[in-house]
Amino acid sequence: MIRIGQAGIPLSCKGRTNKDGLVYTKQVLDLNAMEVQFVRGLYVMADEEAQFMKDFSKENDVELHVHAPYYINLAGDEEVDLSVEKILFSARLSDKMGAKTVIIHPGYYGENSEKKTMKRIIKNLKKIQNTFKKEKIKTKIGVETMGKQKVFGSLDEIIEVCNNVKGVVPIIDVGHIHARNNGSLKKREDFEEIFTKLKPLRLRHYIIHITGVLYEDGNEYYHLPIKKGDMPIAPLIDIVLDKNYNVTFISESPLLEHDAVYIRLQVEKSIMKRTGKEEADYRDLSEIL
Ligand SMILES: [Zn+2]
Repeated sequence: MIRIGQAGIPLSCKGRTNKDGLVYTKQVLDLNAMEVQFVRGLYVMADEEAQFMKDFSKENDVELHVHAPYYINLAGDEEVDLSVEKILFSARLSDKMGAKTVIIHPGYYGENSEKKTMKRIIKNLKKIQNTFKKEKIKTKIGVETMGKQKVFGSLDEIIEVCNNVKGVVPIIDVGHIHARNNGSLKKREDFEEIFTKLKPLRLRHYIIHITGVLYEDGNEYYHLPIKKGDMPIAPLIDIVLDKNYNVTFISESPLLEHDAVYIRLQVEKSIMKRTGKEEADYRDLSEIL
């Protein structure tokens, strides 16, 4: 199954609440995923809106994810408590909405070695998982691959974290992987390597962030529209269709839903290439399996 959506309230949506964004994602864009952004500091969502998000997404089969505030450091010293708070705050709301995942940027190396950073992040994630258990929070924690050298989150690191903390899943930000490795994702084999590395995690579902990205020396500067970046997405889509992976693509490009629709068109083009027909629906893969 393929799901497609954007990170945040669509730019072209007149209403600026998450509720408006969700309805628009389904009714106007005809997409089936959305990532709610709690990225600008703490965000308040009334119970009523959370309940609406839950009911509407369920009834209309739109998968929800939540992005926790950007600045989180589970490897730091005095920042850890506040980071844990931010994650729990986002997770509780996420759970109320029935969102599948609360996505975090795990932390920074600072003065510490990679090993020590890893240890701290794993330890703190385990603590958070215990709180999840106590509070019966069903949302999973998603740890994202990061696009800068000084930020913890190479693909290998994220996989190791997921290997060590039950219930934590990787968020595969291909734009970030591409930037961190200075433009490594060009061909089918390059994307295949990602799935090969992920194999030991036995994932049944892959959450993939897609954006174009401007980078230099292994560091991302900023996100670009997919077409303006130098990372092709067709090889990734081909692998997903060939292997019948269960995938959610989230557009994190500055064009948000426009690029989500672009991803959709690319998926449908790829389906048509296989069926020889002139129509395709990204939700219906029955003819190519
Ligand atoms: Zn992110």
